Amino acid sequence: MDLELKFLGAAGTVTGSRHLLSDGEASVMLDCGMFQGLKTLRQRNWAPFPVDPAEIDAIVLSHAHLDHSGYLPRLVRDGFKGNVYASEATIDLCDILLADSAHLQESDADFANRHGLSKHRPALPLYTTADARRAMSRFKGMDFAAPYEVAPGVHARLSRAGHILGASIVEIDWRGTRVVFSGDLGRYGDPLLPDPEPIGQADYLLLESTYGDRRHEPLDAMEQLADIIGRTAQRGGSVIIPAFAVGRAQLLLWYLHMLKKQKRLPAGLPIYLDSPMSVNAVEVYRRHRDLMRPDIGECDEAYGVAHYVRDAEESKKLDTTPMPKVIISASGMATGGRVLHHLKRYAPDPRSTILFSGYQAAGTRGSKMLHGADTIKIHGEYVPVRAELSNLSMLSAHADSDEILRWLRGFKKAPRATFLVHGEPEAADTLRLRIKDELGWSCRVVEHLESVRL
Ligand SMILES: [Zn+2]
Repeated sequence: MDLELKFLGAAGTVTGSRHLLSDGEASVMLDCGMFQGLKTLRQRNWAPFPVDPAEIDAIVLSHAHLDHSGYLPRLVRDGFKGNVYASEATIDLCDILLADSAHLQESDADFANRHGLSKHRPALPLYTTADARRAMSRFKGMDFAAPYEVAPGVHARLSRAGHILGASIVEIDWRGTRVVFSGDLGRYGDPLLPDPEPIGQADYLLLESTYGDRRHEPLDAMEQLADIIGRTAQRGGSVIIPAFAVGRAQLLLWYLHMLKKQKRLPAGLPIYLDSPMSVNAVEVYRRHRDLMRPDIGECDEAYGVAHYVRDAEESKKLDTTPMPKVIISASGMATGGRVLHHLKRYAPDPRSTILFSGYQAAGTRGSKMLHGADTIKIHGEYVPVRAELSNLSMLSAHADSDEILRWLRGFKKAPRATFLVHGEPEAADTLRLRIKDELGWSCRVVEHLESVRL
């Protein structure tokens, strides 16, 4: 049988990344992501997996974000018996993210059962903490740049993608056919992480297109952060920053450290990192300092700029301490987590600022607030939004369309075909046109559950 590529997620959307390569003899899946965001997408997590999990020999993970890794515990529970290959830093971050995801699933199911909110009795979690632990035992660490045989005759090799710690571009050598999967590409010139590495050659390319229709503002994130904090503090308000626990929170600490060093923050301004998961992720970032751009001492200093809040009571008390202050808290799109308590307290306060730190998916509270909603619903209550709203979209961990093109120019010749994944339809189609017009490559946007012969 010819080599076949089947898109099992992240087609026409930015979540649920999973792509299956198989030829009748071996079967390897790239990523094992969870669907997130709109309810119609989340429901796909509950549908039977489109292929028998027991028939997949191995999985190679590009990086730890849940939209790339979050379905693993369920797949293992449903019969996947192989190994999961990933960089060591990805494994360490998955340990944090999958445990947290399982815990969230369990508490949601528990809440639904106690309040009779589910049609299903009893409501069950998608997977449990025990499932997440079982999935973690399947991981096999990979060094960057070295080939690993992941299935008979199938080799995988990782290159650095930037994006978040440990994030990888995956090259699969399938008995002589080279398939390259971009994973999520980071930005060029990120202060913490290296640029996406150029890949010389690919027969087929799977390319993300999250920001395929956008160019990040050339505005300097540090300047904007300094301005916003300065004017909010002057009004006597607080700055609440919903931040993704892995990657964004660490980048914010870095910028705040630089601003403090340059004496550009109000003297004595308290900065809190109120997210146990972010605090744990900082530990992983510390452990893998060899993957970072700045030197070790400077990284350590940056991580020390904030006061770390682990305790839930201490977190609640933050809302009664005097303003001004900066609170970095998760989740990044305000879909859950401790940041909700802070939003309840500060969103109605016109002196304060809610400062988002990147992409806000459709349907999330973050997206609603930035699109001008005058109230948001939190824990069943309608909360008025009167605070200043802003988004440091340039803090995105994703390459914009110019940067994607820059990475593509690193290929010595055009792949036979380029498949666009991981983008909303507009973004993916705009990128398709740019690739066709500017590079002359054969390129198309894939559809959910479509398969192609390579
Ligand atoms: Zn990602």
